[in-house]
Amino acid sequence: MELLKRFYGINGKSGHEAQIKEFFVEQLAGLELSVEEEAFGNIFITKGVADSYPCVTAHLDEVHSPTERNIVVDGDMIYAVNGCGERVGIGADDKNGLWIIVRLLHSKPVLKVALFVQEERDGEMPGCRGSRACSLAFFDDVRYILAVDRKVNNEVVTVGKGNIRLCDNDFIPNDLLQKYSYMCVDGGRTDVVALKERGLHVPCCNISCGYYNAHKPEEYSVFTHLENSLAFVSDIIDRV
Ligand SMILES: [Zn+2]
Repeated sequence: MELLKRFYGINGKSGHEAQIKEFFVEQLAGLELSVEEEAFGNIFITKGVADSYPCVTAHLDEVHSPTERNIVVDGDMIYAVNGCGERVGIGADDKNGLWIIVRLLHSKPVLKVALFVQEERDGEMPGCRGSRACSLAFFDDVRYILAVDRKVNNEVVTVGKGNIRLCDNDFIPNDLLQKYSYMCVDGGRTDVVALKERGLHVPCCNISCGYYNAHKPEEYSVFTHLENSLAFVSDIIDRV
């Protein structure tokens, strides 16, 4: 949980992701990987050598503006308050995804990772700016892309906003869905939806990672839900 609390302590409002990027890369010290920052500022990571890779994605930015954040752990629940004791957002959307990916990069021998900047809408600016601007060549040798950027604890988004089909409903084996109590749902817009709109052919989906009340001061995470999400994603990578 300490790593997660440190992630929450860093503000990474859209367009200001330098600090969160640096912190993320620090967590990979000692691992043999290729880390590349591409032209728009997205981070692309490759671990291991393979003909085809599983790929996981999350976004580096959050909607919240910088403010004092005191992280509170209450049993299984994590949230933050400011100096006056008022609730403030933690950017669990999508630092929970970043936390899962750090863990996967330590445990999996072969993995590709795409971390996008500027996923969130910002005033008049539309979202998914990083995933709309990146080169798609990085994904030429991936079998699929699992986004870990979905609220709550039991959803796999297989159809994105605009009726964009991300993958077939049997892409994730049914016994894995049951083991971790997940179900396939229609969902909103996120980076994998933007990649699909641009013509990416491989199956994608967006998996719940244990955050609640995203984009609100009352945002919080449930740590056991986040751990369940990590175990689910890890099993998918081992099987699919
Ligand atoms: Zn998000």
